[in-house]
Amino acid sequence: MQIAGNSCKICDRGIILSSEGKFCPRCGTCVHLACEPRDKCVVCGQPYQNFEPRKPDPLSEAVVPPALRPTKSGGPTLAILVGGVLLLLGVLFVVYAFANTHGKLLVFANWNRRQGRNMF
Ligand SMILES: [Zn+2]
Ligand SMILES: [Zn+2]
Repeated sequence: MQIAGNSCKICDRGIILSSEGKFCPRCGTCVHLACEPRDKCVVCGQPYQNFEPRKPDPLSEAVVPPALRPTKSGGPTLAILVGGVLLLLGVLFVVYAFANTHGKLLVFANWNRRQGRNMF
C-alpha cells in the first residue's frame, strides 16, 4: 500500500510523504498523521497501519556501514601515512641539518685555522 500520492480523507489534500500519513488496510483510506490522531479508521473502524520506514532502516544501515567503512578507515590510514611522511621529513631534516652544521663547523674550523696561520 502506497500512502504517498493519495489524498487525505480528513483534509482532502495530497499526502506527499508516506511517513506523514497512515492508511486503513481494509478500506484503503489514507489520512495525514496530523489530521487523524486516532488509531482507528474514520470509515470502517479498522486500526490504521502506519508507514513504517524503520523496518527497512536497520537493513539499510546494516548495508551502508560496510560501504562507509573504507572512507572511515581511510581517515586513520591517511593520518598514519601523513604522520609517516612528516616523520621521514623530520628525520631527513635533522640529518640534513646535522650534516650541514657539521660541514659548516668544519669549514669554520678550517677557515679559523687558515686565519690563524695568516695571523701568526
Ligand atoms: Zn490531512
Ligand atoms: Zn477503513
